[in-house]
Amino acid sequence: MTGKILLFVPLLILIGCNQKKTNVPKFPEFEIGVVSDCQYCNCDSSGARFYRESPARLGHAVKILNEHPLDYTIHLGDFIDRGFKSFDSVTPIWKGLKSEKYHVLGNHDFSVVDSLKPLVFEKMDIEDRYYSIIKNKWRFIVLDGNDLSVHGALTPAKKQQTDSLYQLLSDKNKSNLKSWNGGLSMEQLLWVENELNMAAANNERVGFYCHFPTLAESDSHNLWNYEQLLTLIDTYECVKFYFNGHNHAGGYVEKNGVHYLNFKGMVETKDSTSFATVAFRKDSLFVKGYGRELSRSLKIR
Ligand SMILES: [Zn+2]
Repeated sequence: MTGKILLFVPLLILIGCNQKKTNVPKFPEFEIGVVSDCQYCNCDSSGARFYRESPARLGHAVKILNEHPLDYTIHLGDFIDRGFKSFDSVTPIWKGLKSEKYHVLGNHDFSVVDSLKPLVFEKMDIEDRYYSIIKNKWRFIVLDGNDLSVHGALTPAKKQQTDSLYQLLSDKNKSNLKSWNGGLSMEQLLWVENELNMAAANNERVGFYCHFPTLAESDSHNLWNYEQLLTLIDTYECVKFYFNGHNHAGGYVEKNGVHYLNFKGMVETKDSTSFATVAFRKDSLFVKGYGRELSRSLKIR
């Protein structure tokens, strides 16, 4: 599949985001909220995961975030740990946010009985499994890393594509080929390419949200086919950041001026929390971390 996506690269370079550099727009300043891996269930703690603490932590985050004039708040996946009923404990708290709110699909959001999996999207107010948010001259591309996965591929076609990708990667003995990770279908990759072309045409900046990392210090939590997505990202100068969750320890890697930031998991701490606000300024993103999350200043390339 890597071969296939590379065929698109020469075309992408021709129509990349550099094209309209002479017409630099003014970028409005705004702020968003970021929460990741709330991962609630009414379960005993396991290791450093304190599941029953999550509703109180989410409530505290909502209270703090509501003190900021946020354009929107995004949860980066694994809103629940398991069990469809778990959504009912945390969704009303999440809905207390005054800002617009968005969910990214995580692997644990599909840890429900098979018959209820098709209902997960409506439960999380997700119309399309992957989608974009266009605001303030930014295009925020929200990926579904469970598109091809053991837990989240729901149609016969996606299950078949999952098997093919899994087989392809297992031959290469990849460290991220874990059942709790997942991958992007070719259909989704082509959609991403189209989104990037539209961003280029409209002179928008681009940020990615995904539950799974695509570049990190260690590959083990990465999207199965992260290399295909990286090939795309590397080609477009309009891409400025990639935010994800999944690895509760968090992490940060920079490549070619693109910031790959893994937000720490809210569930993964005995007596603290983890969430953030991100202020978008003309030249920089300012992450203000709460609890375990670090504050950072990230220069926009
Ligand atoms: Zn996860």
